[in-house]
Amino acid sequence: MEKLVAAEESDDGFWRDSEDKPLPVSASDLERHAYCPLSWSLARKGKSGRGEAISAGREKHAEIHEKVRSFKEKQNQLKKALIIWSWWFTIVIIFISDAIIFTNITDSRTPVDIARYLTILAFIWLVVGLFAIYLPWRKWTGTSINNSNNLEDISILEDTAITPALEPFGFIGGWGQGGRVEAGLLMGATIFGLHAIGLMWADDKQQAGFILVTVAMFWTLLASWQLQRALLADSALEVARIDAGLEEDIDIAYSDDDATAGILIDEDTGLRGRPDQIVIVEGEFIPVEQKTGKVPDKPHKSHRMQLLAYLHLVESTTDRKPPYGVLRYGSENLHSIEWDEDAKHSLFSAVKEVQRLMTEGGAERNHNRKGKCQSCSRRYACDSSLV
Ligand code: SF4
Repeated sequence: MEKLVAAEESDDGFWRDSEDKPLPVSASDLERHAYCPLSWSLARKGKSGRGEAISAGREKHAEIHEKVRSFKEKQNQLKKALIIWSWWFTIVIIFISDAIIFTNITDSRTPVDIARYLTILAFIWLVVGLFAIYLPWRKWTGTSINNSNNLEDISILEDTAITPALEPFGFIGGWGQGGRVEAGLLMGATIFGLHAIGLMWADDKQQAGFILVTVAMFWTLLASWQLQRALLADSALEVARIDAGLEEDIDIAYSDDDATAGILIDEDTGLRGRPDQIVIVEGEFIPVEQKTGKVPDKPHKSHRMQLLAYLHLVESTTDRKPPYGVLRYGSENLHSIEWDEDAKHSLFSAVKEVQRLMTEGGAERNHNRKGKCQSCSRRYACDSSLV
């Protein structure tokens, strides 16, 4: 039995309910409707798709998501390793610079005097660092760390987006959580503390310089070890990238795992959906829809319509217009679908038509292709099938 919804067509052509909310239409609704309006209607009546291709597709999707997740995890590990290495390398440079300065300055203060000042400084930085970690100061001051354009734009995806290297999206720290500021404060405390310890042992400036060089050499060893870890992380990342079938220089902003990923919603049209992935290419958010099964010569109309829905959702949630989206069949076959005014027009026409059918009913088969019915996953419930 077809369930009709009470709604009216608005001036802009979209159908809205009594609360003036547009009827919800998902990207999957559009895909089904573009394949055959009857298939969409059967899905609304609770007739789910059947067939080996459907379950194989689900498994394949889960496998792809797992590979993408693994790629992102490796990418974060590499970023962390490189950040730590750069900090440690900075320490080496600081110690060597200090050693040169110490052996050349003429000052009446002894190394032990300077060590005392440095100890006080290290203590202050440590206390400030610990307070910064344990108190939610970002919340109190209204400071959000992720203010870079890309992250802010995509932060609307919240927990659906993949966590970046050091600070999660919307990170506000506090109550035992630290970010870059806290790490910097603790690093500063460590550097001052190590300086102070080294200078305590020095009788004169020459000796102080020697101690600082020795500490720098020790820290060089640690930095080399950290660099080796970064190189190993880079190799693991390359393996994960190839395994996930991703191009070089592509970053992933979002990946749908069917379990935790949130939904993108456009309140103006009622459109909603979850793309398989949103990747960042040359600073642009590009939705990617992965299709499993037989690889067609050119993208199916229904798949294209689904991708257009994601393109609009990415544009409306980030306020940035993606130039194109990608339909991916298997791991090799990629099709870029342009996002322009014509594409937007055909998307909105389809949304309005689905909303009309939700209100007035009357979905019918729109083709005479036996092959389509042959491959249809709802053929078992359809009385208009051609086969
Ligand atoms: S079996 Fe054919 S007519 Fe029926 S829903 Fe599927 S494609 Fe449409």
